[in-house]
Amino acid sequence: MKNPLLNTGELGIFALGGLGEVGKNTYIYEIEDQIFIVDAGILFPDEHLLGIDYVIPDYTYLLENEERIVGLFITHAHEDHIGGIPYLLKKVNIPKIYASGIAVDLIEYKLLEHPDIKPPKIEEYKSHYKYSFKHVELSFIRLNHSIPDMFGFVFRTPQGILFHTGDFKIDFTPVGPAAEYDKLAAIGSEGVLCLLSDSTNAERDELIPSDSKIGKSINELFSRMSGRIIIATFASNMYRIQQIIESSVLNNRKVAVFGRSMERAIEAGMQTGYIKAPKDTIVSGEQVNRVKPNELTILVTGSQGEPLAALSRIANGSHRQIKAMPGDTVIFSSSPIPGNQEGINRTINKLFRLDVEVITHGPLADTHTSGHGAQQDLKLMLSLIRPKMFIPMHGEHRMLKHHKELAMDCGVKEENILIMDNGDVAAITQDSIRLAGKVTAGEVYIDGTGIGDIGSTVIKERKLLSEEGLFSVVLSVNTQTKKLVNEPTIISRGFIYMKGNEEITQSLANEAKKIVVAELGKKLYNELNLKQAVIDHLNQKIFDLTQRRPLVIPIVVDLKST
Ligand SMILES: [Zn+2]
Ligand SMILES: [Zn+2]
Repeated sequence: MKNPLLNTGELGIFALGGLGEVGKNTYIYEIEDQIFIVDAGILFPDEHLLGIDYVIPDYTYLLENEERIVGLFITHAHEDHIGGIPYLLKKVNIPKIYASGIAVDLIEYKLLEHPDIKPPKIEEYKSHYKYSFKHVELSFIRLNHSIPDMFGFVFRTPQGILFHTGDFKIDFTPVGPAAEYDKLAAIGSEGVLCLLSDSTNAERDELIPSDSKIGKSINELFSRMSGRIIIATFASNMYRIQQIIESSVLNNRKVAVFGRSMERAIEAGMQTGYIKAPKDTIVSGEQVNRVKPNELTILVTGSQGEPLAALSRIANGSHRQIKAMPGDTVIFSSSPIPGNQEGINRTINKLFRLDVEVITHGPLADTHTSGHGAQQDLKLMLSLIRPKMFIPMHGEHRMLKHHKELAMDCGVKEENILIMDNGDVAAITQDSIRLAGKVTAGEVYIDGTGIGDIGSTVIKERKLLSEEGLFSVVLSVNTQTKKLVNEPTIISRGFIYMKGNEEITQSLANEAKKIVVAELGKKLYNELNLKQAVIDHLNQKIFDLTQRRPLVIPIVVDLKST
């Protein structure tokens, strides 16, 4: 059994998520009859998906080919690479998860929140390990990124070497362990058949500053502050958290931590040794108000303006322990993820109202750097690996296109580069690459704890509700006497003011009345038909009168038994 799109001698590479978007990275390598899944991420939706917490890939292909799956291989612990794991495990039988370092801890934490899942064994790989499968040998190359323990994957296949970078940047003065450039050069000179590389910053030509530079700049900033410092960053960025702790210690400050994911990150970071703090540096939430303002750093979640995060609560004045006040400085050690700018601006405006100083990353204050390499970094990768074939990954379509240009500049032939969408299958032999067709690859919406119970109709209704309002009409009928018992009652929200629009309301009530009478008079009365008729007629009538399309909801009450 193998993928019918692939001919004998071809291996397949495709994505269920990650191509044409930044998020839900899930890449599939099909080598002979075996399936290797690389990462299982989620995507944080932008505001047009109302009330949706996140989006995961459609796992149908994996479910249908379950018995061929060798394992799930995790490059690193960012949510766009591990956030989908619980949902994948609920749906598909995965024999083993391979992960390294901090990713093992963070996956374990994540699975604790889903006690209904019986997780497979998590095999912890190290950068010098090699795993042999039936047709493939897998080894690892450590690279630098904004979270510790990020590894690229080297697949040695019958067709040749495939290299999957994961997320990376070139940082010659990293905060943690150095990247294994020697291994990159070694597989490059051995000959790499196909490279898949991170395209997130392929449009940017500037140099991405080293993480250690940001540490210096944060320290510098701290030394100038005289009041409390409230600093927000990504909970997954252990290096940054460590830099913030170090700068606090150097400037005689204690550190208080707020926000569940931040507390969890500190715990995991301390266990793995990525976060170290001298004894008594970290103070508890209860102690926090006993520390002098100039001796306190408050480390919080909410750098993306997430409404429930600690920083947003502080800005709202609804945080239990921290009340922001003049003299405080709030530092964003982060940059906005596309789609989040509005939420961040809301938080910043609220902080300004509280007369708090706000510092965001910008030309005046280097408080953040990207974890994704820009053009120079990507070209260095291409030059070291010197791949025959190239598939840009991890990026929106235009980023993938820019990355293709860079690859051509570095000598990859245009006919050997494929820009793909999720579901497109690349079929590769040792000397050819072609688009072989498509497998199922859609989006599944997650709202609260349900999986995929939210269809696109629900999203449409929520959109309608938020933009056009709601129009509901209550119809009391007696199906025995076939009569309308009361005048229709009209309820509207976010659509028109009832007051001052009595004329419209009355004419809509009359319209509803006419329909009810007509429907009740029919030989075969059916409540569903009545509702549909009310919706159809009122939709049209409301549009004629107001040029708007609210969500119309008829409520039928049958009073026959009373
Ligand atoms: Zn990442
Ligand atoms: Zn990523």
